[in-house]
Order: sequence, then C-alpha cells, then structure tokens
Amino acid sequence: MNNRALIIVDLNNDFMPGGALAVPEADQVIPIINDLAANGNYAYVVATQDWHPLNHSSFATWPLHCVAGSPGAEFHPLFDQGKVHAIVRKGFDTDVDSYSGFYNERGETNGLAELLKARGITRVDVVGLATDYCVKATAIEAATLAALDTRVLLPACRGVGLTPEDVPRAIEAMREAGVEVMEEAHV
Ligand SMILES: [Zn+2]
Repeated sequence: MNNRALIIVDLNNDFMPGGALAVPEADQVIPIINDLAANGNYAYVVATQDWHPLNHSSFATWPLHCVAGSPGAEFHPLFDQGKVHAIVRKGFDTDVDSYSGFYNERGETNGLAELLKARGITRVDVVGLATDYCVKATAIEAATLAALDTRVLLPACRGVGLTPEDVPRAIEAMREAGVEVMEEAHV
C-alpha cells in the first residue's frame, strides 16, 4: 500500500526571484517538484502556502511578504497545481507565525497532521522553500510531533542562507530530529 505523501512548502511568488522575500534560485525547484507531484509515487500531495494578514507579527522580522489575497501570496505560475490534493495555509493569525506547515508557534494546528492521518499517510517527503526555515520546521515537526517517516529531498529545496552556516545547520538539525536528508530527488 502506498502511504507516502509529498509536502510542498511555500512556493509563493514572494519567495521567488524578484519577490518581496526572495530565496536565491527558488524557481529552480519548480520543474523538479512538478515532476515529483506527477510521478505517481505519492498517495497524497499537499502544498503549504504562507498567508499573512497585512499587520502580521512576522513583519517585524521579515519584509512584508505573502499578504493574504495579494499576488505575492499566490503560488508561482509555473507550479502545476493539477496534482495537488490539498492546500494548507499558515501564518494567518496576526500575532503568531508558523514556519511549520503542521503547527504554529503557539502549537495550534494548521490541519496538516489531521489531513495526512485521515488519508492513512505514514511517510512523507518534504520539498520547497526555504531549507533553513519552513522546510526545516515542517520536516522536524513531521518526524517528531506527527511521528511520520520523513525525508527531505535537497535538490527540490532552496535556502535563504543569511549566513553560510544556516543551510548546513538546518540539515544537521533535521538529521538530529530523525529526518532522512536525501542528496537526490529521484527516489
Ligand atoms: Zn511568512
């Protein structure tokens, strides 16, 4: 029985080159992720979407980005949503952020764990943006709080990398949490 899901993290326009909070080379993951979503290996495909009110608390830390209903909050136009079964929005409460697709920083659910459980999913592959923030947080909570067999496919991820150590440290933190970090995406 195929019980593996693909979790696609935050392909919002604002994280793409030219966006308000651009992640270097972010658009390079889109064809890889489109292929993964279409390859038939996943029983369920979920995309998370950063989705903030205009006065969101994260704008004290980050530039204004992914404002709900704005073009920057929409997915990149080349991301093929045809194979996506569910979209989970996160960061929509004014006073709390949610790097993870699973739970916000107060521990309140975004519904992702419940969606996966309802579909009988026990294994997940996590891809998308950004390796050192929302991919990391989502993968760690998948492996720990949601107790899922979790892999991260690095060729289908890109990091912010505010310092050169950020992505390597994120990879180490994920591994320490029990995430299998894969150097290739053809799995
Ligand atoms: Zn955000």
